[in-house]
Amino acid sequence: MAKKHSADEPELTCTFCNRRQNEVTTLITSPNGANICDLCLVNSLILMQQNQKTEAPNEPRQYSAQLPKPSEIKARLEEYVIGQDKAKRSLAVAVYNHYKRILSQEMVGMFEDVQIEKSNILMIGPTGTGKTLLAQTLARVLDVPFAIADATTITESGYVGDDVESIVANLIQNAEFNIKRAEMGIIYIDEIDKICRKGDSASITRDVSGEGVQQGLLKLLEGTIAGVPPRGGRKHPEQPLLQVNTKNILFIVGGAFDGLEKIIARRMKSATIGFHNELTDNVEESFELLQYTEPDDLLKFGFIPEFIGRLPVFAPLHPLSDEAMLDILTNPKNALVKQYQKLFFMEGVELEFEREALLAVVQMAKERKTGARGLRSIMEGTMLPIMYTLPDKQNLRRVIITVETVRDNAEPIYIYHKTHRTIADVA
Ligand code: ADP
Repeated sequence: MAKKHSADEPELTCTFCNRRQNEVTTLITSPNGANICDLCLVNSLILMQQNQKTEAPNEPRQYSAQLPKPSEIKARLEEYVIGQDKAKRSLAVAVYNHYKRILSQEMVGMFEDVQIEKSNILMIGPTGTGKTLLAQTLARVLDVPFAIADATTITESGYVGDDVESIVANLIQNAEFNIKRAEMGIIYIDEIDKICRKGDSASITRDVSGEGVQQGLLKLLEGTIAGVPPRGGRKHPEQPLLQVNTKNILFIVGGAFDGLEKIIARRMKSATIGFHNELTDNVEESFELLQYTEPDDLLKFGFIPEFIGRLPVFAPLHPLSDEAMLDILTNPKNALVKQYQKLFFMEGVELEFEREALLAVVQMAKERKTGARGLRSIMEGTMLPIMYTLPDKQNLRRVIITVETVRDNAEPIYIYHKTHRTIADVA
């Protein structure tokens, strides 16, 4: 403790610098006779800070402490997306590594020279199975800006249509022109299978060469400074462009890849020619095969090797079972059934769906072959006439949607509040 010197006590000195007590502002003494003055104290603090600066980078400091863990990311995805376990895991790890890669850019010392590559993601799966939803939910979970682009609208520079930079322009717009935020965002490019090189693939319907568009996207995926017009609109010679660095933007691309399963099946069969075993004899040219996609298959499908190289993470999605479709209607945080129930609740009315009615919605959606995408329009078609008259109905307590309501637009069951209490009620 700091002590004042009195005439009958020996004068105290700093054990480190030998300054006398009256030469310093404060002298801290300890019971075992060692003392330290304020000057030595400050000097030792400075020394400690300097040591930390030179030593810390070699320590295994936890750079990732501020990131949500893959298991946490997956758990958040579960709230909105049904099934697709494999894709969720791939996405969660890829996104975690992506943001670790960004943090690693400020790392000094050990591993300073090791460049972590970008983990752009390729999602393959049938239409309406949750590709866009997964990408969108990821952005929501991570609270980063998000933009969706359609690969079929992108053209090679020089053609009429959206150019590659317009994809980034949408992200900037969604980030409310906060460039720093946009540079950490997520871009989802849908229908990526439609920009395959002509020739090998059967699914080419476009005139503009897909290879040119793939070339155009290469730099964007890897990291480049994109020039984007300030307020959305098209490029104008006099407008100074916003400079956006895409190196930390995570790109997720997705598509249904019709026909890819045939390429995979062919490879798997030819790999074991002459050997008749269970696997090859039972290879079905089905979506199940998509999970075995290899870079060579994508090459045959019509991607250029450099483009495949920019998409190191692969996330396969499978078709949705009836049970999964039923879950989608009722379970996610903003499931369609919950949304309609909320709308009815706001009118003071309870809404119930019979299980058979929901199964009918699922069956009708499956007939459309658009995955879960069909669910909404079928529900909308069922609910529209009911919602049209709902606010006009007095004393309505409960509405029950039956299978006939779904299939034939028959009236649902309406249950009203009792307006007059009868003697029987009182008894
Ligand atoms: P795509 O795979 O074609 O990108 P989307 O993600 O756009 O399909 O799905 C269309 C709609 O269907 C979504 O908005 C969502 O309502 C529903 N949906 C599709 N798959 C799922 C899923 N696995 N879980 C929950 N909802 C889903």
